Amino acid sequence: MTASSPDVDVVVIGAGQAGLATGWALARQGFERGTGFVLLDGEDAPGGAWRHRWPSLTLGGTHRVHDLPGLGFAAGDDSTPAVESVPAYFADYERRFDLPVVRPVRVRAVRRTADGRFRVESDRGTWTARAVVNATGTWTRPFVPRYPGQELFRGRQLHPVEYRSAEEFRGQHVVVVGGGASATQLLGEISRVTSTTWVTRRPPVWRDGPFDEDAGRRAVAMVEEAVREGRRPGSVVGVTGLATSTPYVRDGLRRGVLDRLPMFDRITPDGVAWDGSDGEPGRFVRADVILWATGFRAAVGHLAPLGLREPGRGFRMDGTQVVGEPRLHLVGYGPSASTIGANRAGQAAARALRRELRPGVPLPR
Ligand code: FAD
Repeated sequence: MTASSPDVDVVVIGAGQAGLATGWALARQGFERGTGFVLLDGEDAPGGAWRHRWPSLTLGGTHRVHDLPGLGFAAGDDSTPAVESVPAYFADYERRFDLPVVRPVRVRAVRRTADGRFRVESDRGTWTARAVVNATGTWTRPFVPRYPGQELFRGRQLHPVEYRSAEEFRGQHVVVVGGGASATQLLGEISRVTSTTWVTRRPPVWRDGPFDEDAGRRAVAMVEEAVREGRRPGSVVGVTGLATSTPYVRDGLRRGVLDRLPMFDRITPDGVAWDGSDGEPGRFVRADVILWATGFRAAVGHLAPLGLREPGRGFRMDGTQVVGEPRLHLVGYGPSASTIGANRAGQAAARALRRELRPGVPLPR
């Protein structure tokens, strides 16, 4: 593929798990590779966000990377770094199904044209399309909240997207902020080489039982409700809680690493401070590093020209379709922001686009 293909039925933006699953499903629905659909991906090579996970994240430490449709993930054992095995799997997948991925292409803006199409503008040219599937994930939009005094802090502040190894922090006191899986996992490894303090806005919700299918369905239903109402989708962990059965959580609880403090009020040049209230004394913790494991936002800035986002919030969704725009689907967004959810959403979006763009055309055999 070259970057000169100007006019297609469907442009898929992003080729991580969500984009690849969508590409596979579009081919199954009879869209031709190249003229029927293309995938535009901002990365230099296959793998999506998995290319950038920290090196110590092994497959055993993930919440399971589900197979893409049509090809099983021959992953290796639990100690295999995800940053190696998942991109290799995606590369194999792209080849095997001959997916028309164009990269590196960073989409800057999606606009409507006068004749009701979409113009997809990128750093490598423009595509026009009858429909767009957005599958851009969240990794490129790390979220760090603002706290008073943050700019005065003399130590290092970072987000997990910049994290490489606990060794960088040996001998330094690290304050880890955030109540999700990344925070607990990174606390587990950093606390093995240095001292840590864990800070979360709300007390963590521990889940003792297994995360069975019912619990999964309930969690997804809650995020679905949020996006149906156009609220910004929260993380699925926020709904499911943190499993005490996970080895690094079990170990962190045993070593006292997961005793959390409430959120501090201010950042000082040398640490973080609580002012004290309701009979609670004030407190100061000296810090060399603040690790903001505070999550991500959906990477959807390029869709802003379409004017479909609820003010200051998310997209109002009906399944994978953006309400009011049957030719724009978001896959890997909200309830489908997991490897299994992305698979299902990609297939749902492809089916819907076939009905929308090619009504009455029989499926290829
Ligand atoms: P990504 O993998 O981020 O792919 C998006 C692609 O779009 C990227 O290639 C990106 O470069 C590209 N892109 C972005 N913007 C643009 C643009 N403007 N133009 C062109 N291309 C663009 N989920 C699980 O199910 N199991 C797990 O074990 C798990 N572990 C996780 C661990 C961490 C640390 C994190 C942060 C998340 C984890 N998740 C996990 C959630 C996980 O990210 C998703 O499940 C899934 O991998 C996301 O796939 P995606 O295709 O939506 O996004």
